[in-house]
Amino acid sequence: MAKSSQACPCGYGPHYEQCCQPLHLGQPAPSAEALMRARYSAYVLDQRDYLVASWHPDTRPAELEPNSHAASRWLGLKIVQQRALPNGDWQVEFVARYRQASGKAVRLHEISRFCQVDGQWRYLDGHAPT
Ligand SMILES: [Zn+2]
Repeated sequence: MAKSSQACPCGYGPHYEQCCQPLHLGQPAPSAEALMRARYSAYVLDQRDYLVASWHPDTRPAELEPNSHAASRWLGLKIVQQRALPNGDWQVEFVARYRQASGKAVRLHEISRFCQVDGQWRYLDGHAPT
């Protein structure tokens, strides 16, 4: 699916193959932010296996909603801020924008929590900022 030398969907690395692709191919994420970016790219590229694999086993849905965003066009990701939590988990606040098939632009603002399972970062859960 990925063409060579395409820009990484997450907007960080100049090339997908030097940014999120290694993570999609199984390389451990070096940081919670890297995992967050790789999950965003996985949404863009519809890499559902990665979305499941990067989810914490305790909070992972049994099945991803079929094509929940398939008809959407992702417009970009912005990391707003991030910080370590006292228990060693990591919190990342981000804004992702996408356009629905209807043409409606949606702004997804979420504070996500990540934690390490056997030394690997996993997405734990997220909530809207209060
Ligand atoms: Zn990337």
